[in-house]
Amino acid sequence: MTAFDRDYRMTIDGKLATTGTQIEVINPATGKVFAAAPDCSPEQLNDAVDAARTAFRSWKKVPIDERAALLDKAGDVILQHLEELTRLFTQEQGRPTEGARGEIALAGNWLKIISKVRPPVHVSEDSAEQFIETRYVPLGVVCAIAPWNFPVNLAIWKIAPALLAGNTMVLKPSPFTPLCMLKIGELLQDVFPPGVLNVISGNDSLGPKMTSHPGFAKISFTGSTATGKKVMESAAKDLKRVTLELGGNDAAIVLPDVDIDAVAEKIFFGAFFNTAQICVATKRLYVHEDIYDQLRDRLAAIARAVKVGDGAEQGTVLGPIQNERQYTRVMELLEDARHNGLTLIEGAEVPGNGGYFIPVTLVDNPPESARVVQEEAFGPILPLLKFSDIDDVIARANDSEYGLAGAIWTGNPQRGLDIARQLETGTVWINQNLNLRPDTPFAGHKQSGFGVENGMEGLLEFMVPQSVYLAR
Ligand code: NAD
Repeated sequence: MTAFDRDYRMTIDGKLATTGTQIEVINPATGKVFAAAPDCSPEQLNDAVDAARTAFRSWKKVPIDERAALLDKAGDVILQHLEELTRLFTQEQGRPTEGARGEIALAGNWLKIISKVRPPVHVSEDSAEQFIETRYVPLGVVCAIAPWNFPVNLAIWKIAPALLAGNTMVLKPSPFTPLCMLKIGELLQDVFPPGVLNVISGNDSLGPKMTSHPGFAKISFTGSTATGKKVMESAAKDLKRVTLELGGNDAAIVLPDVDIDAVAEKIFFGAFFNTAQICVATKRLYVHEDIYDQLRDRLAAIARAVKVGDGAEQGTVLGPIQNERQYTRVMELLEDARHNGLTLIEGAEVPGNGGYFIPVTLVDNPPESARVVQEEAFGPILPLLKFSDIDDVIARANDSEYGLAGAIWTGNPQRGLDIARQLETGTVWINQNLNLRPDTPFAGHKQSGFGVENGMEGLLEFMVPQSVYLAR
């Protein structure tokens, strides 16, 4: 790869497409531009939607087993390009190699696993008088919009069920991380018929042009809650279906009966993996007062030992913040914490090379009202909060406009299950974290989302029931 690589193309109607203008792609470990991606024109967006609409007419008639076989093959194609995509992923996203490889491999396998799901057919009556059957049919062209924190897997979460269901798609990755999905879009043209999967790129202004485009039947969006609200508003004009996977401010509750040695590292990486840029990362850590000091000191020791740096360098555990906008936001939250006299515990030093690095930072028992507790940081600052009463801590955990996920750490699994059932979130982990599966529904409660991804429910979000009544 050259120092400044302009060799990335959109895929529209099975053909590679370039543009007059481009967007710059920055390596967050250096803060320097290393590649450029196409900046899709309004005409090209129309072309992509037209191509997807034309392809829909035949793709929906392809038997589901044949569509599934192509999705399975698409998974193989991604896995065959694992190393090349891993390198590109680390360059554009910043995540160290092992985690980058993990995401590409997961994406390939996700396609293969989802390809095995089949929508149900319900027969409500099969009598001498009549036969009534309900089956699920595809919607049309799906507008898919993805974020930068898991740029490949979260796009695959949309591609796999949407195409399996018989829809076609125009996908837009984040302007901060467009390259892997442009490359995958290109690779998959050898698998899918032209127009079934179109991948376009552009800056944030392309998003609203897509969501207001009348050619789409459905919008599947992953990103912030603020943008999700705009997407829903835009979709209302012509009643497009929407699935919104949005932000979270996940609480984890640590009970006094835990084995601190066994859980400290798991708790740490449940908060800081991917430099804490995970929708379902622990963002508020409630620790029982009996073990608070001990766990805080253990987490601080891990934070000091973890190497933060360029993900392409061996031994790096945590990479940079993915982009300057997010870096500025996290720095501002840190500044607010300092300004308000909160106690900050800093982890290992970070490189001072122009990359978007911020040291892992623990905030020692801030007030519940602190911004760092109330807001989704989406960066490596974790508030540790003391509690003594379980009902009180459940109320504090639930006192959020978000409801994405949560975790409970306890030596008593039954106690964990009892608390889990009281949390107002779509996913709860007990003595584990960040575990999501293709066969299990993922849904944000409250303002963390609208609709479902994954599992049968996730597939049915890309379909609509059709009931047929036959008189005999
Ligand atoms: P973002 O909302 O800024 O951007 C997401 C995508 O929307 C990008 O592709 C962007 O270009 C596009 N976009 C921007 N403005 C738009 C508009 N007006 N209309 C349509 N599209 C528009 O989010 P981000 O900063 O990329 O991602 C971080 C956020 O995503 C965090 O809040 C995180 O919690 C959330 N997230 C949620 C999940 C989940 O599954 N619930 C997963 C990952 C990330």
